[in-house]
Amino acid sequence: MTITWQQSIGLDSQHLCDFKFGFESKKLNPQINSLIKNDLENLFAQAKLDNVEMTIISDFRNFDKQLTIWNDKWRGYRPVYSKQGRPLNIDKMSSIEKYKSIALWSALPGLSRHHWGTDLDVFSKEAVEQGYDVQLTEEEFSKNGICARLNQWLDDNLEKFGFFKPYNEFKGGVAVEPWHISHIKQSQLILDNFDFHEFRQHLIKSDICENEFIIQKLAHYKEFYFENICKGTDNQC
Ligand SMILES: [Zn+2]
Repeated sequence: MTITWQQSIGLDSQHLCDFKFGFESKKLNPQINSLIKNDLENLFAQAKLDNVEMTIISDFRNFDKQLTIWNDKWRGYRPVYSKQGRPLNIDKMSSIEKYKSIALWSALPGLSRHHWGTDLDVFSKEAVEQGYDVQLTEEEFSKNGICARLNQWLDDNLEKFGFFKPYNEFKGGVAVEPWHISHIKQSQLILDNFDFHEFRQHLIKSDICENEFIIQKLAHYKEFYFENICKGTDNQC
């Protein structure tokens, strides 16, 4: 079962439900696609049994939120980072340089997998509970990083529960994001049925910065960022 084009670009969230498993009550419940609820519950239950509990850092994000993130970065209100995680000075950048720098870490509004409710950013629950200041860097998920055990567990277990890491390796588009997990079947179904025409029409009407330039780049974005992900079947790029 797939979702409507409005749901696939973050304009409608009726396909979502609350997800409470293993989550601190002081935080809001994460919002996930109701179709993946069972698989996600099983994943979190096994992590708990294996003593590598994780917590959700980021779940569903709507179109407007993604538009704000994108425009804030374009205007220099939010930091923009290099692939190595260093802050970049975008003041003197051309439009194409800015577009590529922002797209490395942030999706165009309407094309974020976080609109689908199938994708989540996770982190070591223990670290968060101990007050660790989460950065979401590759280093944190490396061999000596604070999420090293979780990362290994994800690599060993995600697929058994129907999940994968779409940004497990750098493929020339989005930076490596080992914390970003995705439901294989549901996300593929949404990707296969994605209505690019409706999305384009909506983005044209939006107040995204340098609207005309961005619309011209859509075919490029689709090929090098949106569809340029690691495969879910064997986690190989
Ligand atoms: Zn993410």
